[in-house]
Amino acid sequence: MERTLVLLKPSVVKRMLMGEIISRFERKGLRIIGMKMLYMTDELVEEHYSHLKDKPFFPLLKKSMQQTPIVAMCVEGVEVVRVVRAMAGVTNGRNAAIGTIRGDYAMSNQQNIVHASDGVHVAKEEINRFFKPEEVFDFGDLNFSSLYAVDEVDM
Ligand code: GDP
Repeated sequence: MERTLVLLKPSVVKRMLMGEIISRFERKGLRIIGMKMLYMTDELVEEHYSHLKDKPFFPLLKKSMQQTPIVAMCVEGVEVVRVVRAMAGVTNGRNAAIGTIRGDYAMSNQQNIVHASDGVHVAKEEINRFFKPEEVFDFGDLNFSSLYAVDEVDM
């Protein structure tokens, strides 16, 4: 079963929207199999956003990610990487379609509510970056029959 990393950014914590955003993933039928709050250290921000480290906005992004603890979630489902990216919407909240998380809750390119892994390989790396193996839980086939047809699930 595919897994992805979702981060709820500090703006979510400050706006007290954690429960609301988490519930959107649950309502969709995605399983949260790991979740914790943590402060992102300098090293963690620099590693996680290494593809942006030369951008002029990087210091602003770094500061924004360290304002409060973030919520890290490991989320599981069939084709979950693609599904969660679609749920998040495009990067800039002003351009994100209404109905997506960013489209519904964000007015900013930077303060855009969630991070979501953008590929299956990247998701594996990012889950390992934020979670120890024992912090991610295997729910087995619990509730699969209410979420999927048997021929959709490849355990
Ligand atoms: P994502 O995969 O949609 O999150 O987009 P990126 O990997 O390109 O960017 C990572 C994060 O950097 C985004 O989610 C934003 O929080 C932030 N970001 C992207 N572009 C900009 C920008 O032009 N200005 C600022 N301040 N932040 C940005």
